[in-house]
Order: sequence, then structure tokens, then C-alpha cells
Amino acid sequence: MQFDLSDPLNGLSELNTKIWDSHVHIWSADAFEPLLKIGRQYGVHQFMGIAAPDVKKTLEENGHGDLVNFAYYLPIDAFASHEPERILKALDEAHSENYSMVKLWFGPRFLDFFKADKPFSLNLPIFDPVFSLIEKYGIPMDIHVADPDIWYDTKYQDIIRYRTKNQAMNEFRNILREYSFPKLISVHFNSLPEHLDQVSKDLTDFPNLYIDTASTKWMVRELGKNIESTRSFFEKHYTRVLFATDLSVGWEDRDEEYLATRYWAQRIFWESNHQKIKLPFPDADNPNPPTYINGLNLSKKILEHFYWKNAYKFFNPR
Ligand SMILES: [Zn+2]
Repeated sequence: MQFDLSDPLNGLSELNTKIWDSHVHIWSADAFEPLLKIGRQYGVHQFMGIAAPDVKKTLEENGHGDLVNFAYYLPIDAFASHEPERILKALDEAHSENYSMVKLWFGPRFLDFFKADKPFSLNLPIFDPVFSLIEKYGIPMDIHVADPDIWYDTKYQDIIRYRTKNQAMNEFRNILREYSFPKLISVHFNSLPEHLDQVSKDLTDFPNLYIDTASTKWMVRELGKNIESTRSFFEKHYTRVLFATDLSVGWEDRDEEYLATRYWAQRIFWESNHQKIKLPFPDADNPNPPTYINGLNLSKKILEHFYWKNAYKFFNPR
């Protein structure tokens, strides 16, 4: 069994729920069309899309506004250079433009992208006004706190510059203790698919916290290592996990196969019983390649929540 672009649902059974992809990046309005087309083939009917105001506006004018809940990407360069005023201005724009969320991205690489020359921590007092305003507006956050464990062993050995993964996660927990956000999504399984016990503890400690399954290869690789513990995690926390891919369209040239392989791999992983299926795209992060998909065969009830109901509830508060 393998991925086949001419038979996109190869290996999948009929699905009795719609799917909401709670994490995609839409960098241009034109690029949304192929995403919509391929998404539909896999049962995706709604998106949470991270998009700039002009892209959001065009999509709304094209009549796609109902298909997307939008997130505003806060300027990460302003976090790197310690310029909270710019972030506050962006928050005002997100608020006045009726965004559903704000996106915050703290993969340690961001310090290099913007040649940061000051130490960074989420807990720096200079960022207090930012989190206070997010709290005041009550706008949900979509936050990337840390990167895969493997990267800390390889790329991020300068722990003075990048902090350890534990440090980054603890800074995040401090923020959650200090502010009362209505709710938020910590993406990539709370950045900790390698440590389900800790994710479970965080979900218990913070009732406003949700997690997503963005980054197909990271999720398939780590959550597929011990499918029994992943299944019990889902049985316990299935109302707090949102299906997501992190597909990115309109930034660089990406074809339909890029979109289809991610949806196919995730659906095979969550829904099927198939074991040791080769991931249909490269996973450079795996020290022992190739990466295999080991199907979790989640129950119908869990899939209904994880694929649709949780996101519906998250994005349509009463
Ligand atoms: Zn993302």
C-alpha cells in the first residue's frame, strides 16, 4: 500500500465526518484554490488560515470568507528586536479586522532569521503589554513554542542563545499562569509529541489549552513510535486535539502532490490499521530513515471530535 496521486483515497475507508484543517498558511489568495480543491478530495471543508489582511480581504471578496477562520501573524521580527510597540499595533489591526486568532511563532531559528542581538525569553517584562493586550481583546492565540527534540540536539546547541526546550516550555507555562486567556492552541502537539505524559499534564493544568497535529512528518514520526500510548492519549484528551497540517501555499511553488501527500499520510495515520507504510515524502529529521506511518485506527467518536467538532466549538463560541 502506498500513496498514489491518481487514486488519492487509496487505503482509506469512507469517512462519516467532515474535516476542519485548523492550521494552514495562505500567503496569496490565488494559492488558496488548489488547497481547497485537494482539501475537498480528502474531506476538508473548513480551514483556519494564517493570512495577511490583504489576502484575507481578497478571499472574502472572492466569496471564500465562510470557508476560512483567519489568524493574524504577529511580527516575529519585532519579538526578535524587542519592539513591543509594533506588536501592539499589529494586535490592534487583528482586532479591528475581525481576525479569529493571532499567530505567534517562536521556533528558535527566528532569532537567526532576524539576526537578533539581544537575549530572548517569552517572560521578558518588555513583552508584558503584548500578552496583556491579547488577554484584554480575548483573541485566541495559535502559538508555536518550541521545535522537535532532535533539533535541540543538533541545530540548537548554543543554549545561551536558543534556550533549552525545557526553558522555552516553562516560559510558556508561566505566561499561561500569569494571564487568563479564554483559549489558545499550542501547535505541533504542544511542541512535545515526544513526551505525551507532559502534554497530558499541561492539558490537565491548563483547561484553556488546546493542541493541534500540524507538521505531518513530526507527528507521524513521533506519535507513531508507540501507537498504544498515542491511542490512550487520544482516548483521554480527544476533545482538546484539533486536526491540522501546517500546509503552506503561495510562498513557494508547491504542486498538488505536496498537498495530497500530507492529507493522505495524516488520514492513513489517524484512521487506518495499516502499519509500516512508507511516508510519501522525505523526512530529513529522522535519524533512522525512512519514516513509516503506523496507523492508529482511532474510533469513530474520537475522529468526529478531532476532525470537526472540536474546531467547530473552538471557532464558533456562543
Ligand atoms: Zn504553521
